[in-house]
Amino acid sequence: MSGDGQTFVIIGASLAGAKAAETLRAEGFTGRVVLVGEETELPYERPPLSKGYLLGQQPREKAFVHDATWYAQHDISLLLGRRATLLDTAAHTVTLDGVEQLHYDKLLLATGSRVRSLPVPGIEQAGVHYLRTMDESESLLAAMRRLAEAGGGQVVVVGAGWVGLETAAAAREHGLAVAVVEVAPLPLHRVLGDEVASVFRDLHVAHGVTFHFGRGVQAIGGDRDGRVTNVVLDDGTELAADLVLVGVGIRPATELAESAGLAVSDGVETDAGLRTSDPDVYACGDVACFHHPMLGRRIRVEHWSNALNGGPAAARAMLGQQVEYDRVPYFFTDQYDLGMEYAGYVEPGGYDQVVFRGNPSIVDGKAPELLAFWLSGGRVLAGMNVNVWDVQDQIQALVRAGHAGRTVDPARLADAGVPLGELLG
Ligand SMILES: Cc1cc2nc3c(=O)[nH]c(=O)nc-3n(C[C@H](O)[C@H](O)[C@H](O)COP(=O)(O)OP(=O)(O)OC[C@H]3O[C@@H](n4cnc5c(N)ncnc54)[C@H](O)[C@@H]3O)c2cc1C
Repeated sequence: MSGDGQTFVIIGASLAGAKAAETLRAEGFTGRVVLVGEETELPYERPPLSKGYLLGQQPREKAFVHDATWYAQHDISLLLGRRATLLDTAAHTVTLDGVEQLHYDKLLLATGSRVRSLPVPGIEQAGVHYLRTMDESESLLAAMRRLAEAGGGQVVVVGAGWVGLETAAAAREHGLAVAVVEVAPLPLHRVLGDEVASVFRDLHVAHGVTFHFGRGVQAIGGDRDGRVTNVVLDDGTELAADLVLVGVGIRPATELAESAGLAVSDGVETDAGLRTSDPDVYACGDVACFHHPMLGRRIRVEHWSNALNGGPAAARAMLGQQVEYDRVPYFFTDQYDLGMEYAGYVEPGGYDQVVFRGNPSIVDGKAPELLAFWLSGGRVLAGMNVNVWDVQDQIQALVRAGHAGRTVDPARLADAGVPLGELLG
């Protein structure tokens, strides 16, 4: 592969963008590679921001995808602190910060996601945090430490999604009191459904977290200095708060794609080769709504593994290789002593049975060891391993088979004596 004289521009200098740049060079592309990011940090991975980094156990450098010298060594022009403001696909240009125009031959959108804000009175007060960036994680860690050093404090987490729950776990580990407010009846309810979501509820309750399910936030109260003091729920309940973390989800950063008139729905629409509605523009990571061959429909995956693998897949497609990006959707979490991996995809309510291999109860506050599978008509659509390791390949094989229409015997699936590899016959 050469590429002399060509310029490939990547917008979004995080995991997906950095991995795409790495792959372009690994595949032998000799043209110009420009990686543009509006954050000023080197490209980094976000999962530690609500886990090891937030616990103060992991230095920031460990989150970086590569150190600064790597980009120079691989002749990648890393433009940090620069925002792409306009994409003109007819002229093959992208404008940075409203002034500088860059020409591209191929362009990759790896612009990821942005947090959803909570539009309630008082949200702007000091002590209200969001968590997407390294700076935000650092400021949250500093705030938790200040409270812990002052003898404790009350944290209110709004939203019992992954980031909200991981933050709740970190706050408990800092010795702080934690209340979680969630509009759904259980944490992670949309993704996991009643049966497995209750495992996460019970784990947090065992660690002293108080939940307020079925409730939204009406307002955030503060003192005369503009510091948060309490959170008012939509039934009038007032929760004392020294610190509030808002984790009410994210939305794909599609502004640039929209400015260019690309097809955008829940993310930037692409085919299975991650090519958008413009033949010279690709999209990957959180921002891409890609056609998934296994599912036979478009899907947007806002998880680490999709950035890690989608970036390289998009890079290969930009180089003209035949790409069919068909990774089984995968994510992981760590909360207290619970480590979990999940693979597959189920629409909310799109299963008729959950099969456990192992006991889902929390005993003496300890996370269980178990596998859980979501089935429809005997087909495994998704599977999860909790504190059981090295089973992802088998789980993903079951998920692929299930989406292809093959069934398993639920009784054998539940039986730990039957190797997972023997279930498909
Ligand atoms: C706190 C936290 C914890 C997480 N934990 C897990 C986990 O445990 N497991 C898991 O599977 N996933 C986890 N995730 C999700 C995972 O981190 C994301 O899926 C991943 O970061 C997506 O990578 P990305 O490169 O597509 O986008 P992003 O990481 O969102 O990066 C996009 C980058 O593009 C930049 N950008 C956007 N628009 C422009 C523009 N116009 N010009 C220039 N730059 C722009 C953004 O500033 C950003 O730096 C977590 C996320 C967070 C925030």
